[in-house]
Amino acid sequence: MVNLRIATLSASLCLLAACKPQASDEAKAPPGTKSSEVEMESTSASAKTSNAREVLTSYVSEHEFQKGSSFYNSLRALNIDSSTILKIVDGAKKVFPLQDIGAGTQYSIAWTSEDKTDPVSIELRIAADSSLLIERNNDSDLEWTATKTVLPTTIQRKTFIGVVDTSLWESADLVGMDPSLITNLTEVFAWQVDFSRQVRRGDRWRLTVEQKIVNDKVIGWGNILAAEYENGAQIFTGVRYPQIGPNASYYAANGNSLKQLFIKSPLKFGRVTSGFSKGRFHPILKIMRPHNGVDYGAPVGTPIMTIGHGTVVEIGPHGGSGNLIKIQHNGTYSTAYLHMKGFAAGLHKGSVVEQGQVIGYVGATGLATGPHLHFAFYENGVYVDPLGRKFPSADPVPANELSKFQKEVGTVLRTLPDWNVAQHVEASSTRNN
Ligand SMILES: [Zn+2]
Repeated sequence: MVNLRIATLSASLCLLAACKPQASDEAKAPPGTKSSEVEMESTSASAKTSNAREVLTSYVSEHEFQKGSSFYNSLRALNIDSSTILKIVDGAKKVFPLQDIGAGTQYSIAWTSEDKTDPVSIELRIAADSSLLIERNNDSDLEWTATKTVLPTTIQRKTFIGVVDTSLWESADLVGMDPSLITNLTEVFAWQVDFSRQVRRGDRWRLTVEQKIVNDKVIGWGNILAAEYENGAQIFTGVRYPQIGPNASYYAANGNSLKQLFIKSPLKFGRVTSGFSKGRFHPILKIMRPHNGVDYGAPVGTPIMTIGHGTVVEIGPHGGSGNLIKIQHNGTYSTAYLHMKGFAAGLHKGSVVEQGQVIGYVGATGLATGPHLHFAFYENGVYVDPLGRKFPSADPVPANELSKFQKEVGTVLRTLPDWNVAQHVEASSTRNN
């Protein structure tokens, strides 16, 4: 019994997991790049192999969950009795809730014998890169336990290059690139280029991205490792550093962060109705006094975002300022948002907020002629005019890592395809027209 169990498990593992050696074909190296520079990485976890597997394949059956059918119904249809199914579900519960199984999920069942009445294990492909094995315990036929296995994923690098003719999307489509990668590209350069308005004909882009492979099949994309975007006369370069890990960010080749300390506006939509000035006639107080901020006209309820990461240092009603939030961004900068209708739920003094987080809504509380956001910006506690000002970027690559960063930048930038390739694509598409 025990030997049979191990052997059938190996057989089922082999049906779904990687029993073949790892793929060794490399990403297509761009011109001028040595193929040795295109590295292959592989995660751990390897499947077991067994000499007995050929013999026992007849004890394994393969299935797929159908649309609208539950795990329970699917197994009942295979004449597995209710109490066994419930034990299987119970055994898997802690590792993976079987009610989340979607239509199309493949699974295999290993049986004790050819008549396929008595299951010993079930293996489900719960994700592109992971499988769930639920097996009956050795010592007792009553208990089932589950183990999740992450299949070995191979990462290879893939490169794309494009030229904008009508739109960014079309330029990706033309070179057969997954449109989701264009979204990722625009996220890399979100602080440099306003992709909703500034993309123009002739703009060029190129990128190197990780491609995930499981069992010789492409299962999806990893991170963009390096990219360039040529917008008119300007070329922006972004390099991911460190390549792996939660602290990765995109930097220019010199190590400066691509991320700016502040986003351009606290409102997604809304226009400046009154700028910062040293003296203006106050519409309600009817006196001349400085306007220490920028007014944005927007309908009541429009979400207001904090322009940068920081800590809420003041929140609540504040006389003529109405409902106000003040955020300290760092030792130098703070911002205030006035006349708000209300605050985002859960915010309080001391809350930490992230850049772009909604902190409240446009209103007309306090001394206000109509709904608007009065936005005040302080540098070292003094009001300054934020419009048209250049603010510092987020932290650059730390000085003690700069030489390591520069080495990596050199290597990864050489993986980008040559710009001439893009010109070729452009030229050939013109010929086809
Ligand atoms: Zn104002």
